[in-house]
Amino acid sequence: PMTRELMFSAYAVTEPGAGSDVNRISTIAVRYGNEYVINGVKWWITNGSVASWYFVLAKVDGKPTGFVVPADLPGIIRGPKEINLGQHASNTVRITFEDVKIPASYRVGEEGDGFNIAMKTFDHTRPGVAAGANGVARAAINLALEYAKRRRTFDKKLISNQGISFPLAELLTKLDASRMLTLRAAWLIDNGKDNSKEAAMAKWFAADVAMEAAIKAAQILGGYGYTNEMPVEKLIRDAKIYQIYEGATEIQKMVIVAKMMRMKEV
Ligand SMILES: Cc1cc2nc3c(=O)[nH]c(=O)nc-3n(C[C@H](O)[C@H](O)[C@H](O)COP(=O)(O)OP(=O)(O)OC[C@H]3O[C@@H](n4cnc5c(N)ncnc54)[C@H](O)[C@@H]3O)c2cc1C
Repeated sequence: PMTRELMFSAYAVTEPGAGSDVNRISTIAVRYGNEYVINGVKWWITNGSVASWYFVLAKVDGKPTGFVVPADLPGIIRGPKEINLGQHASNTVRITFEDVKIPASYRVGEEGDGFNIAMKTFDHTRPGVAAGANGVARAAINLALEYAKRRRTFDKKLISNQGISFPLAELLTKLDASRMLTLRAAWLIDNGKDNSKEAAMAKWFAADVAMEAAIKAAQILGGYGYTNEMPVEKLIRDAKIYQIYEGATEIQKMVIVAKMMRMKEV
C-alpha cells in the first residue's frame, strides 16, 4: 500500500547531538506490549513538512532501531522550514516526537538492525545525490563556456585566453570522471552488488566538482558571477550542501578507508 499512490517520505536520523556519528542519537523507543512509544528530536530533515511517513532511527534499550512512522500521528510536531544557504525549494525542518505511539509491526527489521539499515540506505541514495551535484557542475560549465565564447576583452574573446579555457577543459574532464563514478555506483546497486565504496567515491567527488565548477564559473563571469542577474551565484549556494548532507565529504572518505583497510592492493 505504501507504494500504491505518490507519497513523500523523509529520512529522520540526524539530531542536535548526532550527525556524522549516528550512534550518538538520543531518540528512544520503548516497547509496551504491541506498541512502541517514541520520544526525541530530529532536525534538518528534508521533506519533513511534506512527507506522509518517516523512517525514524531510535534507540531501543540502547540499540539503534528503525521505524516507519506515519507523519500524522498525535505527538509529532513539525517545526518551520529552515532558512538555508541554497536549495531553497527543499524543505528542511525539525521534527519533535512526544510520546508517539506506533504498532510494533512498524519496526523495520529487528531491534538493533537500525544502524545497518540507515547506512545501507545511503548505497541507494548517494548515486542520486552525486547525479544532482553533476547537474550543478554541468550548469556552471555551460554558463561559463557560453559567456567566455561571447565576452570580448582586450580585442579578443575571453575563451581565446588559456587562463580561461584551460580551467574549462579541466572542469569538463572532472565532470566526465564524476559522471563515470556516479554511473558505476548506480549500476552496481541496480545489479544487486555492494557499492558502498563506489557510492561514497561518487558522492564526495561529484560534490567537490560541483563546488569547484560553480566557483570557477563565477570567476569567468566576473561581476555577472556574483550578482543574481545570472544564476551562477545560486549554483554556488546550491553546490555547498552536497559536501555536507547524506554524509559529509570526510565521512565518505572514512567509508572508502574502511574498505581499503581490507584490501591487499588497489
Ligand atoms: C539542508 C540539509 C538537509 C539535511 N537533510 C537531512 C535528512 O533528510 N535526514 C537526516 O537525517 N539528516 C539530514 N541532514 C543532516 C546532515 O546529514 C548532517 O548535517 C551531516 O550528516 C553532518 O552532520 P553534522 O551537521 O552533525 O556535522 P558533524 O557530525 O558535527 O561534523 C562536523 C564536520 O566535521 C566533520 N567530521 C565529523 N567527524 C569527523 C572525523 N572523525 N574526522 C574528520 N572529520 C569529521 C564532518 O564531516 C563535518 O564536516 C541535512 C542537513 C542539511 C543542512
